[in-house]
Amino acid sequence: MDTPTTLTNLLDFGPAQLVAYCDALGEKPFRAKQLQRWIHQFGASQFDQMTDLAKSLREKLATRAVVLSPAVISDHTSTDGTRKWLLDVGQGNAVETVFIPEENRGTLCISTQAGCAVNCRFCSTGKQGFNRNLTVAEIIGQLWMAEFELRRTKGIDAGPKGERQITNVVMMGMGEPLLNFEPTVAALKIMLDDNAYGLSRRRVTLSTSGVVPMIDRLAHECPVALAVSLHASNDGLRDSLVPLNRKYPLHELMASCLRYLPSAPRDFITFEYCMLDGVNDTDQHARELIALVRHGAQPVPCKFNLIPFNPFPESGLLRSKNPRIKAFAQILMDAGIVTTVRKTRGDDIDAACGQLAGEVLDRTRVQERMQKQAQYKQKFGDNFGRLVEIPT
Ligand code: SF4
Repeated sequence: MDTPTTLTNLLDFGPAQLVAYCDALGEKPFRAKQLQRWIHQFGASQFDQMTDLAKSLREKLATRAVVLSPAVISDHTSTDGTRKWLLDVGQGNAVETVFIPEENRGTLCISTQAGCAVNCRFCSTGKQGFNRNLTVAEIIGQLWMAEFELRRTKGIDAGPKGERQITNVVMMGMGEPLLNFEPTVAALKIMLDDNAYGLSRRRVTLSTSGVVPMIDRLAHECPVALAVSLHASNDGLRDSLVPLNRKYPLHELMASCLRYLPSAPRDFITFEYCMLDGVNDTDQHARELIALVRHGAQPVPCKFNLIPFNPFPESGLLRSKNPRIKAFAQILMDAGIVTTVRKTRGDDIDAACGQLAGEVLDRTRVQERMQKQAQYKQKFGDNFGRLVEIPT
């Protein structure tokens, strides 16, 4: 028997590819289902654990395949229970995965690229530039690692009978998921598959900065809940905050949202809006937003999620004051638009939105950042860069 020189990482395979892989090994399709359950429902990585597979298959797999997620570089838990892992994806690149526990659910925020080419002005990930796309194994491996690590920590059995820790997934970590389309969709399909995580489409949210043609493709290939990083109420402002807007301006983005909705598992689009002091947070901006989603050619059913900005010195931007955020939310709500203000989580471990950074790439820069942060705190008070909670 030939010994393969490289081992195949089975985390790279969705349901169909696993069937094809088993077929190439001379195995029946049901073996693929068994294998998938062992990997994604029991968190197994050793083939000798997979006791209902024929011994001959286990031996074949042991010489040809592995189940390997990115190695954990660090693992921090915040005082509010938020847990952040920094994962090594090779060649000095690292990505972050964040688990946010809430009363009735556990949400995992996962990354799809190392770095990001979109370079939004308020995002520290964008500041490090684009390094590379993640593979399917590196994307789904974040869910695989986190689910079973959380269970191990709590002493919960692996397997479908053990209490599920991650009930929701949001693709809102590092990277623009729609610029890494195929691996992202393959990973989504594994999340939704009943022989893997069996998550409902409503509980999986993909967040995009607005890659219009790929929103259309997603509607056809794997519609999940859609969030759009809007952050501005007109093209001039959005061009400066989200540079991708120059390619896909607001009227095209709104039209693609409308085209997406008939396939979507929810009957609205979530618009994310980062609240930036004096930049996009005036009453006039709120009124423009209402006009944008209500009075275009066709209204866009939507919900707004206002995100208090997490300042970082290089951005030159500040978080809107709390009363301003409340007033802004009120204008939207008075127009009948469901509006929430995100409670920022995990600030003490830098896991808050827009802080999923590449600090491992350059630890010196982090030191600089920390020093600048201290200076800013001196200047703007102790609450600068800290968690704010705004009753809605
Ligand atoms: S906000 Fe998202 S799309 Fe924009 S630079 Fe950051 S990671 Fe990229």
